[in-house]
Amino acid sequence: MNHHLTQTRFKDFDIDPRLIKGLDEAGYEFCTPIQAQSIPISLGGKDVIGEAQTGTGKTAAFMVACMNHLLTNPEHEKHQKNQPRTLILAPTRELAIQIHKDAVAIGKYTGLVLGLAYGGTDYDKQRRALEQGVDILIGTPGRIIDFFKQKIFNLKACHVLVLDEADRMFDLGFIDDIRYLIKRCPEPDKRLSMLFSATLSHRITELAYVYMNEPAEVRIEAEYRTADKIEQSIYYPANEEKIPLLLGLMKKLKPTRSIVFINTKRVAEKVYAWLEGNGYKTALLSGDVPQRKRQSLLKKFKDGEYSTLVATDVAARGLHIPEVSHVFNFDLPQSGEDYVHRIGRTARAGASGFAISFACEDFAHYIMDIEEYIDQKIGRQPVTSDLLIKPEPPIKLERKPKPKRPRSGKPGGNRSQNRNTNHRR
Ligand code: AMP
Repeated sequence: MNHHLTQTRFKDFDIDPRLIKGLDEAGYEFCTPIQAQSIPISLGGKDVIGEAQTGTGKTAAFMVACMNHLLTNPEHEKHQKNQPRTLILAPTRELAIQIHKDAVAIGKYTGLVLGLAYGGTDYDKQRRALEQGVDILIGTPGRIIDFFKQKIFNLKACHVLVLDEADRMFDLGFIDDIRYLIKRCPEPDKRLSMLFSATLSHRITELAYVYMNEPAEVRIEAEYRTADKIEQSIYYPANEEKIPLLLGLMKKLKPTRSIVFINTKRVAEKVYAWLEGNGYKTALLSGDVPQRKRQSLLKKFKDGEYSTLVATDVAARGLHIPEVSHVFNFDLPQSGEDYVHRIGRTARAGASGFAISFACEDFAHYIMDIEEYIDQKIGRQPVTSDLLIKPEPPIKLERKPKPKRPRSGKPGGNRSQNRNTNHRR
């Protein structure tokens, strides 16, 4: 657990003792690179933009600076009940929930009140909590704007602003909401602002230039970027070998907890059915799984009830899963960025992990971009016959009838699946 940790201790910083106590108890002693680099800057009251993926410890990096700022600037305490002193925006509810969870642990002795607001569920519960007054408001842009426009809170006393996974928020179309909210905060020179993003692309630095106060840039060294503790390998199976190879590798490697990434929802469902049919307790996380279900599936995966998670990129965005031993790219992702994002699910904050990719007939051409992006060659592995096992048949998926089209057929009947839908090139 020390590969990605530096020699810098949290205790070395001039941090409020109440925070140190919380960090200590939560097991934070040595800083990760992004923490070691960004905390000294933000503690000094200077804005920071940081290039860092999930798993690098960026949450604690901004949370420590944020909480310390609130604890050591008592004049900001003169806020009213409906005025949070910090706003933390994240792209997905899963990430917001995770940030909140980390904040609860780190801030255990600070007395700071945390609020959480994300879309989909718990509308009234969240609103009531906000009405009680919070110091730190964490949430997704849509729900936050909703409450803001209803005047549940205002941002006049918001002296700390954090944008987490800013590039994802762009991708998900939140940028106008974000601009709207930032403009309601105190001027850039009257607040501490921090922005984190997997890449500091042009659109991100421009946003930072407009809405932040001459932020310092922090990037973690290249070798941390694809997490040097991840052992990466790549196989070149024929399309019809992909399932036998996946099952063969699972049998051989016996992953304790793995994620299988798929490019499309339809194939994700198929792979899920094969894994279930072959005895792997699997959770399926595709874009149209209702969000309540997503959360309970994710919790069960975290608790070990499922050993395998089949996910598409859309569904996996912002997910926070500690200690995944293996990431399988059943389909190669389209971009290097997605590749890094996917394999970053393993080897989190120092644990080691494996990332195994299939360059199949359909997606093999993505490999050039990926290797260029990560600036390294991924080790080729031969598809040997002992790795290809003869699978048990997949389970039959229950197809839910489409809501508005009543079916005339017998209820509950399984439609036979057309095996030849997989067009081969
Ligand atoms: P993050 O990148 O913020 O999502 O953090 C990834 C995981 O690493 C979280 O579970 C953190 O609790 C953990 N973590 C982050 N920083 C440290 C640290 N300095 N020491 C130990 N664990 C850490």
